[in-house]
Amino acid sequence: MPIIFTVDESTMLQIAAQLAKLSQGVGVFYLKGDLGAGKTTFSRSFLQALGHQGTVKSPTFTLVEPYQLATGMAYHFDLYRLADPEELEFMGIRDYFTDNSLCLIEWPEQGQGVLPPPDLQIAIEHLPKQRKLTLTPYSERARLWCNTLNTLS
Ligand code: ADP
Ligand code: MG
Repeated sequence: MPIIFTVDESTMLQIAAQLAKLSQGVGVFYLKGDLGAGKTTFSRSFLQALGHQGTVKSPTFTLVEPYQLATGMAYHFDLYRLADPEELEFMGIRDYFTDNSLCLIEWPEQGQGVLPPPDLQIAIEHLPKQRKLTLTPYSERARLWCNTLNTLS
């Protein structure tokens, strides 16, 4: 069952930070939504909640940006400019998806067929001043995170 939140920006940042802590910096997160929906903003709060102190920009041209965190490796993808999902194979992305790593993936549609399935899909939709967040868990641990988030908010 998906859970849905209608949020302003500060609440969205809080949800991202709570999810980061619940996940302990491990898992695969798909971030869906149009340009400007808030996928990078969400990722930034997520990474900062895990202790990252510098900037977080969409890796639009490099496709992936690695972060060394106290919880282990994190990889932030932006697949908007990916021409073909097979490019991901050439990048050696299999090495990025380990039992201990974190993968935050903007535009996962672009990597369909090559990307592993997510623990959690986060869809962000524009509303006039807010965003509609739809969180869909695909793993047992993601169901736990969602249940806990529900009790926190
Ligand atoms: P994307 O990565 O999806 O293209 P960005 O995160 O780069 O989007 O940009 C989203 C923009 O919308 C930012 O300027 C941010 O301040 C704003 N924003 C993000 N979340 C919200 C929200 N929940 N409500 C209103 N504005 C938001
Ligand atoms: Mg982005």
